[in-house]
Formats: sequence, structure tokens, C-alpha cells
Amino acid sequence: MDTGAADALLICEHCDTVYRRRILVRGEVARCARCAAELERHQSLSVNAMLALVLTAMIVFVQANMWPIVTLGLNGQFSATTLWGMIITMWQQQAQVVSVLAAFTLFFFPMTKMLVLGWLLWFARRGRRAPGFVRLMVGLHHLGPWTMSEVFVLGALVAIVKAHNYFDVVADPGIYAYAALTVLITIFAGVDLRQLWVLTRDGQA
Ligand SMILES: [Zn+2]
Repeated sequence: MDTGAADALLICEHCDTVYRRRILVRGEVARCARCAAELERHQSLSVNAMLALVLTAMIVFVQANMWPIVTLGLNGQFSATTLWGMIITMWQQQAQVVSVLAAFTLFFFPMTKMLVLGWLLWFARRGRRAPGFVRLMVGLHHLGPWTMSEVFVLGALVAIVKAHNYFDVVADPGIYAYAALTVLITIFAGVDLRQLWVLTRDGQA
């Protein structure tokens, strides 16, 4: 039954040369013979392990958004604020660009990526392609560069440093949830999702 994975074809993303896929062992990387671009590397994380990571990241993400991340002092008044509280306050304090940057890098991009990954992996556990598989895989491919942990960390730093111009800023527990989330996102950044193309099949389980 499961003949697909071993003899599927691989196409070089850079020069379109077609190869017959073979199973890689730990540490092996397949490269294009013409242009040396990386075709595929051995995956140490199973689909279940990836799904567990995504679910962990979602829980941490919810905590990071519910717990206060910083205490802001303005005109002698101090108040603990969540990420969204900070984003809204920055917007009101004429720092709209930073508030939008923070909203996207710290909230919308990571949330979208986690939800899409969770959806794809949930079906991939049973070797199936989730509804919308092709469009979502292509979408993730394009979204990839914009959700790298560097962007995430940069967004957090810019937001906090900028906030410093307007308020006294003291770190609260939520910021550590964000730090943990950054670690999880960094692990994801190393996962090659292209393996889902060969691990899954269209149709019924
Ligand atoms: Zn090539």
C-alpha cells in the first residue's frame, strides 16, 4: 500500500531538475547535482513530535497573551499590561508604526502559523492531507521568512525599547512566556515542512 514515500519525485526548487527520492538516514542531506541546492534533509522530528511542539507553543502563546508582560509607568501611575494593552497604549501615544509592527510580529504572524501548522499536522498524523493542503503549504512557504524568530525577537525588542520612550517599563511574567515561545519558534524554523508532501496522501484514511 505505502509505495508513495520511497519512490516519489523530488524537484530542485532552483533549477527544476527532477530526481527520484530516496530515504535519507540521520544527518544526511540530499543536494542537487546541477546547482548544489539543498533538496531535502533527514528529519529527526516525527509528525507527532511536531504536533506536540505546536500544541505546546499554542498553550505558551495563550499564557504570553493573558499574563501581563510589562508594568508601565505613566505620569506616576503604574499599571501592569498585557501585550495587547501595550499595543493599544502605544497606538494612543502616537507610536502607530511600532504598535502595528508589534501586533503583526508578536501576535498575528505567530498565531496564523501555529494554527495552520496544527491543522496540517493533525491530518498528517493519519497520513492524510488536510482540506486546503496545497494552498496552505504554499502559503506557509511564503509566510516563512516573515515569521522567523529573529523577526519575532526584533519586534519584541523594538516594542519594549520604544515603549521606554513613553513610559517606565518593568518586565512582568508574561515576558518569560514570550521568551519560551521564541525558543519554540526557533525549533520550528529548523523543521522542513516539505516532508509533509510525501508523508501524506489525498483521500480517505
Ligand atoms: Zn538544482
